[in-house]
Amino acid sequence: MTHPDDTSTGAWDAGTPWTQLDADARRTLARARVLVVGAGGLGCPAALCLAQAGVGHLVLCDDDRVDVTNLHRQILFSEGDVGRDKLDAARDALLAQGAASVELVRSRFLPDVALELARSVDLVMEGADNFATKFLVGDAGHLAGRPVVHGAGVRWRATAWSVRAQGRPCYRCLFEDVLPDGAAPNCAEAGVIGPVVGMAGALMAELALDLLLGREDRTGLMHTFDGLNDRLRAVRIHARRSCPLCGERPTLREIREEHYVAPLCQSLGTEHHDDAGLVVPPPSPLSIDPPRRLGS
Ligand SMILES: [Zn+2]
Repeated sequence: MTHPDDTSTGAWDAGTPWTQLDADARRTLARARVLVVGAGGLGCPAALCLAQAGVGHLVLCDDDRVDVTNLHRQILFSEGDVGRDKLDAARDALLAQGAASVELVRSRFLPDVALELARSVDLVMEGADNFATKFLVGDAGHLAGRPVVHGAGVRWRATAWSVRAQGRPCYRCLFEDVLPDGAAPNCAEAGVIGPVVGMAGALMAELALDLLLGREDRTGLMHTFDGLNDRLRAVRIHARRSCPLCGERPTLREIREEHYVAPLCQSLGTEHHDDAGLVVPPPSPLSIDPPRRLGS
């Protein structure tokens, strides 16, 4: 594949996806650096879409190995990759699919490196499978001044939404704090439908392309795909004035490890209200239901 740095080539221009992007947009994407946190069911399709859209530099962060039970949704891997380091296998697959540059961070996304990693890129993709990391990515992106795209998928429902650089609402507007361990089902417990989580990854990539190209009108919109009913919709999420990260009097001004530890006990199922009078339902870390109006 011809790299978009060379915008004069007919081969690049002939590709259907690129006819929608002018030369400046292609150059912007070719220069962009995107961090993908998690090379799983969300990160795999998201990274692949970004690479094939011409995003020049992908930084993958994960510490896991390819497992046969995850192949149905981690589309960068095949049976021959089982047991390999996910990052090695993902880099091979992405380069084979036209990625220009793939950097590897062989670690979980942890508090001690979160800010540095976020600052090193133009945008952060949050494809984590646990609540603590989702909060950490959101906080690090906000404090580093980088936009963040969140994704989730569980059972038949996929969600994706984006937060512009230091924008509102943020992840903590939707969910106040890390849930206790076991308070919400994880992928293994709830089950994940491969194509549905793939939809979430593709939506994440689309939202990321928007932000990289300077379009912010879809930030704060939660895109939800209901695979059982074949329904895709977008619902606006509202910021909370009391949000500790982006609210009127923010208290979360630095990354500290204790912010990402599940509390010993917490009132579960308690609704909290945002500034617009919406009720945010009891959260599930991987599948986010749209907020509903009070009384509805
Ligand atoms: Zn917020």
